[in-house]
Amino acid sequence: MKFHIVTIFPDFFRGPLDYGIVRRAREANLVEIQIHDLRAFTNDKHQTVDDRPFGGGEGMVLKPEPVFACLDTLDFAPRAERLGRSTKQSIILLSAQGRRFDQEMAAELASLDKIALICGRYEGVDERVNTALADREISIGNYVLSGGELGAAVVLDTITRLLPGALGNEASAQQESFTARSGPAKDSGTADSTCASGGLLDYPHFTRPAEFRGIPVPDVLISGDHERIRRWRRRSALEKTLQNRPDLLAHVALEKEDREVLDEIQAAIKAAGIS
Ligand code: SAH
Repeated sequence: MKFHIVTIFPDFFRGPLDYGIVRRAREANLVEIQIHDLRAFTNDKHQTVDDRPFGGGEGMVLKPEPVFACLDTLDFAPRAERLGRSTKQSIILLSAQGRRFDQEMAAELASLDKIALICGRYEGVDERVNTALADREISIGNYVLSGGELGAAVVLDTITRLLPGALGNEASAQQESFTARSGPAKDSGTADSTCASGGLLDYPHFTRPAEFRGIPVPDVLISGDHERIRRWRRRSALEKTLQNRPDLLAHVALEKEDREVLDEIQAAIKAAGIS
């Protein structure tokens, strides 16, 4: 996978891409990341990348010329092909007005082999970058950042850890929060392979010491009983999702066992008088 990041602050990426999984993925050549300084694609002495908005109003807008000029050097397929998904390439504009980035979109993007991430600044980017150059406009959440760089780092990180070989343990990507279940619902084998998120939030994790500041790890996790552990993890994932992200439950294919557990949890909440 090759990433091109287009930014007026190339130094911003010193750091976010140099640690952990992304660093290892770079070292293993699973990903190649090139950072392009927009100012290098200007023609004036001051290397101007912004201008006042047509129609008046606050702030400045990133000019289209340097962005197009930069992408012209990167040999992407024509926009129509990218939009038609007949090529494994995408030019993405980071924007608060974009479609909301999520795990499903990350998985779709992880199947591509070349992605450009255009980072806006100021009041935003000249809309022609969106309508004539980018094939996707992506927001990382319902809030306004001061620039697209953090968004680009989020998108790149999320995609990279989904690339085959990026995580030490391939199974772990399938069990994480938000991840739709791809394999059979229940495997035989260890507890770990039988409580995949299936679109729920992840279950809580514990490590040693077994007791810390008087707080013990749940007994079941040290019981060695894989079936009990599986049920506890599934129940905890359901509980957490119900508590923190009930909206996700509408999109999860719940098993009969899950529905029974949810009914139990809801009855317990009702009985305790908490809503
Ligand atoms: N005026 C714009 C915000 C501009 S913020 C608006 O109200 O929608 C400047 C830049 O930050 C944007 O061009 C975009 O690249 C980036 N940005 C801001 N919020 C973002 C978000 N939620 N997701 C992705 N990028 C964002």
